[in-house]
Amino acid sequence: MIINQQASFDKFKKELNYCYEKVPFYKKHLDSAGARPDSIHAIRDIINLPFTEKKHYRKNFPLGVLAQGYKPNDPRLTRSQSSGTTGERLVTVEAGILLLNRAIKCARVNPSINKALSNYVKKTCRYAAPNCSDVECANPNSTMQDRILDDGTLVLPVYHDLLTTSEELIARALEEVCDYQPDLYYIDPTHFAFLARQAKSRGISLPDAPVMATYTGPTLCARRQIKAAFDGKRSVIELLASSEMGWIGMECPHGRLHLNTDSFFLEVIRDGEYAELGESGELYITSLDKGALPHIRYKTGDAVKLLDEQCPCGNPLPVAAMQGRMMNFIKQNNRYIASPYEIDQLIGAPAWLDQYQCHQIDENSVVLKIIVNDDYQPEQGEKLAAEVKRFLGEGWSVQLEKLNYIATERSGKFHATKSDISTPTVFGEANAIA
Ligand SMILES: [Zn+2]
Repeated sequence: MIINQQASFDKFKKELNYCYEKVPFYKKHLDSAGARPDSIHAIRDIINLPFTEKKHYRKNFPLGVLAQGYKPNDPRLTRSQSSGTTGERLVTVEAGILLLNRAIKCARVNPSINKALSNYVKKTCRYAAPNCSDVECANPNSTMQDRILDDGTLVLPVYHDLLTTSEELIARALEEVCDYQPDLYYIDPTHFAFLARQAKSRGISLPDAPVMATYTGPTLCARRQIKAAFDGKRSVIELLASSEMGWIGMECPHGRLHLNTDSFFLEVIRDGEYAELGESGELYITSLDKGALPHIRYKTGDAVKLLDEQCPCGNPLPVAAMQGRMMNFIKQNNRYIASPYEIDQLIGAPAWLDQYQCHQIDENSVVLKIIVNDDYQPEQGEKLAAEVKRFLGEGWSVQLEKLNYIATERSGKFHATKSDISTPTVFGEANAIA
């Protein structure tokens, strides 16, 4: 599926020419694939262009991938670092003004975020894995002033391994957020759901502001807990973003994720072909704004399903459902069996469940780890494990483990569904949820 319409093809061609002429890496990359820009005559030719990946940018950064006219220490550039979800952290730059434009275009689908962005004085509060922030927030001795960034973002203190965060640090984070009275939360949903549970158990209501969830996909359980921390008045707004691209998609007030096709040319690729509407595939992104670090057909490692629906909010940007990181899919016989999104829909948000992890350990087994609260009855966990087993099908073993602690990944992120099976190359027939 090519998500953009024909109108974006002209922009795509211009970006391709720009990359070929101004970015040394792209000249080499396209030439070695025998795919010069003048071989692209129609939108259907795009699939013949070679894709790009993180490793290309890591290897060629900065001089090979930086467009002519920009220098690595250019004051116009914003520098950021990936969290290291797939290994080594990736350093990336882009012109600050372009990142802002991408964000503004993306935020048009959500009035409350749009409003927060247009505030002259911004007070954003961030709560996420320390790797996702640019300050030392895991150090118990850091002060609030140490953690306020130049743009007015307060980064709340948290440990790298979320569930080992000390009582002292939790109390400090809650005190700071109440003091700071943010006008926007920019958070990882697993992390913020943890803080929300802590707030609730202490009888604290969090200051009211829109909650934008990014870094990982929000589970239904995290959504429930975060909403409760705002007395039911705030729903989580999902933001699809990456350190390389900035803002790619955002949830509207009707709970649909709209993709920012104003700023990007987007493709959904399934086993080397374009995915059909309603089919999962990997999201490939091409930037369109002739930036400092342009990308052509950049493989994101994120699976997405484009939906054939007109959103009631009236926004014309296409609607998609994020399926999760492809490496986290449940897999068998070299095929994808279930996405983190599908598993999450199955788990749902029962009141007794605080957090879970569905962890595939071999070709036929998953361990369903649950952290529960006082509402829990033993048969509820067994029932959920039986549902996961039924969903995965014949021959699967699902072992239930009731725990008080589940470790985060090395990056500091928490994956609600994850797999120890290395990534296959073929999409399986997706299981339908009954
Ligand atoms: Zn909408």
